[in-house]
Amino acid sequence: MSDKLNLLNLTRDEMVKFFEEIGEKPFRAPQVVKWIHQFGVDDFEQMTNISKSLRAKLSEVTEIKGLDVITEQLSDDGTIKWALKTQEGQAIETVFIPDGDRGTLCVSSQVGCVVNCSFCSTAKQGFNRDLTTAEIIGQVWFAARRLGSLKTTGERKVTNVVMMGMGEPLLNFDAVADAINLMLDDYAYGLSKRRVTISTSGVVPGLQKLKGKLDVALALSLHASNNELRSKLVPLNRKYPLEELLPAVKDYIGESKASKKVTIEYVMLKDVNDSPEHARELVRLLKNVPSKINLIPFNPFPNTEYQTSSQKAIDTFAEILLSKGFVVVTRRTRGDDIDAACGQLVGKVADRTKRQEKYKNSLNVVEVR
Ligand code: SAH
Ligand code: SF4
Repeated sequence: MSDKLNLLNLTRDEMVKFFEEIGEKPFRAPQVVKWIHQFGVDDFEQMTNISKSLRAKLSEVTEIKGLDVITEQLSDDGTIKWALKTQEGQAIETVFIPDGDRGTLCVSSQVGCVVNCSFCSTAKQGFNRDLTTAEIIGQVWFAARRLGSLKTTGERKVTNVVMMGMGEPLLNFDAVADAINLMLDDYAYGLSKRRVTISTSGVVPGLQKLKGKLDVALALSLHASNNELRSKLVPLNRKYPLEELLPAVKDYIGESKASKKVTIEYVMLKDVNDSPEHARELVRLLKNVPSKINLIPFNPFPNTEYQTSSQKAIDTFAEILLSKGFVVVTRRTRGDDIDAACGQLVGKVADRTKRQEKYKNSLNVVEVR
């Protein structure tokens, strides 16, 4: 592995510090950030407004090292799924979902996931490690460059990012925060804060830390209308139950300009959480939480104990919420012919057991069978 500093790891502020440290002017930082993130350049020789001697110095001590692509799969509906390779050869997945003018990139934050939700195929792979800032922003960098070169049917661009790939973003807080900082930076991707979404299974300290530090849209993976059921589906609920989680969510959106409402994600599992009684309980639970509700048909994967709710059950569930004034969207499943739908993102995770146990213990997460 190279011992050069990977500039993809640095936010603009960090890059300013770096240039100061090597005795260069701070204004070099925005210039280099622009070359890397806006123009997708990874060769210092192309940075024409940087002097020859500085280019030589930079290539001596730094590098711009993205992720290599292992596979690219194109779905009939235009969705593209990439498996990208980390330096140790682990695979992570990134999905691009075009929809009219919008291009949403679903970004991973960890290799595997420790939270171990019972309906999620990423969880079944265990947890291996956190991704670095370079690997998280590297997914956006890769997609932007690749989509640029794929331009066959009109302009395809990343306009939105959702942290809904593999992993729990709030359990990899610092790297995710730095990567999001670059997504929002006008010198890098310049995305609007309303177009960048963190999706969390409910890490309360992470939500508290987020408040005041980073203002982006928030999605909460709720999936259940009471603690007993939620603890079975999302084991993290035992550590951060609804009576702690929902106030933390309200606190965050109370201060946020990007997220006036939290998006509630609710995966529809046949005969588990999809009855009219569950819908009514959800109405009571969310009475004082400014929210919009996304009903997600369960995406099955091999050896799962769950089934997708019937369309009728989903419609009835949605109608109960709608009749009580909630905004409800039933999510279309995208890219399911290439297993790119939510919860189908699976990397090849080596060495899963030891680290997973370590993290589980530190989180006090109980495995539910
Ligand atoms: N760890 C974060 C973000 C990644 S998961 C979180 O849990 O929010 C992204 C979304 O996909 C979550 O709402 C998750 O609950 C949902 N999901 C996971 N497995 C799924 C499956 N098999 N079918 C449908 N949605 C699933
Ligand atoms: Fe992790 Fe999210 Fe999957 Fe739960 S749903 S195991 S938190 S990736």
